[in-house]
Amino acid sequence: MSSPQRFRDTRHTKYHFIDHVLVRCPKCTGIAHVAPAASAGGDEAASMFTRRRLVCRACGLSRDAAGGLRLFRGSGEATDPYFGLPLWLQAETRHGRLWAYNPEHLKLIGQFVQAPLRERAPWNAQVRKMTLIARLPAWIKSAKNRDEVLRAIERIRSSLVT
Ligand SMILES: [Zn+2]
Repeated sequence: MSSPQRFRDTRHTKYHFIDHVLVRCPKCTGIAHVAPAASAGGDEAASMFTRRRLVCRACGLSRDAAGGLRLFRGSGEATDPYFGLPLWLQAETRHGRLWAYNPEHLKLIGQFVQAPLRERAPWNAQVRKMTLIARLPAWIKSAKNRDEVLRAIERIRSSLVT
């Protein structure tokens, strides 16, 4: 029933991706990882509020977050919700800033933008509004910006290859 031409919103919320966030290391400016310091036992809502730890494999920096979280909603450089550090995966376009918490998040945005036919997830409106895709800015969802958005995704992706 599903064709590869179709994109089905797989009910990812932004919070699903918050468990693994790539940021710029404040010490060595390499790729550092922000992840829960302990497991929340599979409870996604609780997991969001689990204390985070920053770990950089390049320079060995390890740091615990003070607590609390601020989701990025503004303009300018996109930051992670726990440490306020710049996200590794981001690029500026003419229309705004494209950013992702981790490669899976970026991939999902790419799949959405590439799919000519965008299906809406068949859940109730409340849940649908929560999904990551529904929350993407209109310029990312606009068909006329598709090529530009895909180029930005490609640029971001290439920043992972060092
Ligand atoms: Zn580092």
